[in-house]
Amino acid sequence: MHANALARDAGIYRQLADAIPFELALIDRTGKIRWANAAWNRLTDHYTFSNASVSLLSNYFDMFYSLIDTKSGQRQFANIIDFLRLTHERVLIDYNIRIQNGRWLHVHLESMQVDDEDLILASHVNITSQKEREELIRQMADIDGLTNLTNRRGLDAFLQNEFKRAQRIEQPVTLLLIDVDHFKTYNDLNGHLAGDDALRAIAQTLNTFGRRPTDLVARYGGEEFAIVLGNTDQKGGLVIARSVQRAIATLHLPFPAGKNGRVSVSIGVGTAYPKPSSVPDGLISLADGALYAAKTEGRDRIVAAKATLD
Ligand code: GH3
Ligand code: MG
Ligand code: MG
Repeated sequence: MHANALARDAGIYRQLADAIPFELALIDRTGKIRWANAAWNRLTDHYTFSNASVSLLSNYFDMFYSLIDTKSGQRQFANIIDFLRLTHERVLIDYNIRIQNGRWLHVHLESMQVDDEDLILASHVNITSQKEREELIRQMADIDGLTNLTNRRGLDAFLQNEFKRAQRIEQPVTLLLIDVDHFKTYNDLNGHLAGDDALRAIAQTLNTFGRRPTDLVARYGGEEFAIVLGNTDQKGGLVIARSVQRAIATLHLPFPAGKNGRVSVSIGVGTAYPKPSSVPDGLISLADGALYAAKTEGRDRIVAAKATLD
């Protein structure tokens, strides 16, 4: 090809690379940045670098690590760095990660041969608005972001409906309030992120209960969960409560400060026979009182209460 044409093509490619709105860089397996597009060089406009000595063109690994603002994200990235350093396999990695200022990036890493050299193309696409939209949809659907269970608002709405139905057909409604024992200590011992993992595992287990359309499993708040059981009396509620207690024990979440060295729960079981004028608050208070009794009686236990509500 004619030298002018080559030069012209190179110019076009450079312009194309710089016109692309997402960040592109070519790095080697030690993280050294060999080439970057204009968007990459604008990174400094958006982020503050916690380590002042880190400059944009120093090292991709150091630079990117300092942008990640969660421990789990940093761990994930450290694993990727190890993989890139230790192997010479072809690379094809995609992941989403949260960085400073609540921003989210989609990161794509892919092997690329450049002049017989084994390099890696790193590209970042900003997906913050997509993530924000997802969160909004969740909130509108009354879904709790950590556990994917129904949140408090969804529980209130469901309970209200269930109450109306129960008085029409003159059936009881049972509510289980489930509170993780000594969870503050669990966080103190294992860290908040491990606490989050434990809550997710507990939520997943609870979600296997309450299978009927008149049932609902929800995150009541913090380390408290709720299970609504429609058309269920105290006896039925106690059966479920015992299964829940066993299922949490068999999760075997290690906890030296807990009963038998593992995480346990206390459960308040409230059963109400609603009248046309009753509101769900009465049932919540009933279950809450029972839960309080279970706590003061020593935790890792079930207490039940029932009432005909005014
Ligand atoms: P008790 O047996 O009396 O229930 O003791 P507790 O420590 O569980 O109760 P307390 O209300 O004192 O503490 C609740 C703890 O739950 C404190 C809080 O940090 C933790 N927690 C609440 N929500 C979350 C969460 O989303 N993630 C994590 N990791 N911890 C949470
Ligand atoms: Mg609590
Ligand atoms: Mg607790």
